[in-house]
Amino acid sequence: MITLKELFLKNNAQTSTSPNMLEIESASGIYLYDTQGKRYMDLVSGFAVSNIGHRHPHVIDAIKAQLDKFLHLTVYGEYVQSPMVRFAEKLISVLPASLNNVYFVNSGAEATEGALKLAKRFTGRTGIISCYQSYHGSTHGALSVMGNEQYKQKYRPLLPDVSFIHFNETSELDRITETTAAVIIETVQGEAGIRVASNDYMLALRARCNETGTLLIMDEIQAAFGRTGKLFAFENYGIEPDILLLAKALGGGMPIGAFIANRDVMGALKENPILGHITTFGGHPVSCVAGLASLEVILNEDLVKDVNKKGELFRSLLIHPLIKEIRGKGLMLSIQLDNFQQVEAISKYCAGQGLIIDWFLHCETAMRIAPPLIITEEQIQDACKIILTALDSFQEAN
Ligand code: PLP
Repeated sequence: MITLKELFLKNNAQTSTSPNMLEIESASGIYLYDTQGKRYMDLVSGFAVSNIGHRHPHVIDAIKAQLDKFLHLTVYGEYVQSPMVRFAEKLISVLPASLNNVYFVNSGAEATEGALKLAKRFTGRTGIISCYQSYHGSTHGALSVMGNEQYKQKYRPLLPDVSFIHFNETSELDRITETTAAVIIETVQGEAGIRVASNDYMLALRARCNETGTLLIMDEIQAAFGRTGKLFAFENYGIEPDILLLAKALGGGMPIGAFIANRDVMGALKENPILGHITTFGGHPVSCVAGLASLEVILNEDLVKDVNKKGELFRSLLIHPLIKEIRGKGLMLSIQLDNFQQVEAISKYCAGQGLIIDWFLHCETAMRIAPPLIITEEQIQDACKIILTALDSFQEAN
């Protein structure tokens, strides 16, 4: 009989020649369970999605309650659907006053697309500046602002009038001019292997955008919802974006994205012509109730409070001759090794021991540590023991 794994390889489109192939039966809290009953601690959070852990009961209850009311009704922006209204209200209540209008979409890439279009419409300009090593999604528009030529060259021509600056290089900020519609930047660069901007850089970037009338789009698709020790990563810098991009942890495990701006800015999409950006499923009711419930969990359980302490614990335990550096903020961390061979071997060893770690799209020499924020100190100690043993065994074998 053909196995599920064989069917997966045969019938489901593949994104690489070496998929992970874990076959998961169930997930709960910080653990995944495979079909053999083996337990895995998830140090990746489904790529920064499961900040409150997998299948949090409050989220599951909210989803179940919505299933008895309605699913999809009509395209985004027409009917008054309570899940999206309540979720937007809650999001706005925890954001700065200027970010008071939410456009719900389905994914991170769509949030990027919507924001780029909005910046062009609002400013009447075409120039977009992005950063080398950035990742904002995989659709054509998002790919156009991705800072890695390797992934782009086969898909050209892409969007015109896009240029790149080096992340954290204040001297390059004068490339932002009166013709620049927007700068799009990850508040903390994720796929670059977790690169944290300096405070001075972020302040100078905000100031330069103000000077030139350029909209500052901050992509917190990976960094928001407590991951960096603040509810939103821009709070670490005391600045505010003009457009904020959210997805991943936004839905508490359900698919949803959003771009959030000031009401005056967002108004540019609604007329002349109307329907400047539309989506059938954006703000899906089940995703919105899940997202609202997830945000309630983060706030009510004060999950952000201990994030920095937990990040510090990882840093203090992960001391090993093979570790060159640990970068990051809060529980958005990367362990810098020397080469991909090490990263691959350590990840494989850890998986064998029931621990899931991964690497980065633009940085194969570092390992990703992004556990659910609910991880306990004891669980961090267990995880680090496995990582250190993996490093020891690699060192012995090589
Ligand atoms: N922006 C950032 C910073 C991301 O990390 C990602 C996904 O990894 C995206 C955008 C794209 O999100 P999605 O995969 O939901 O399209």
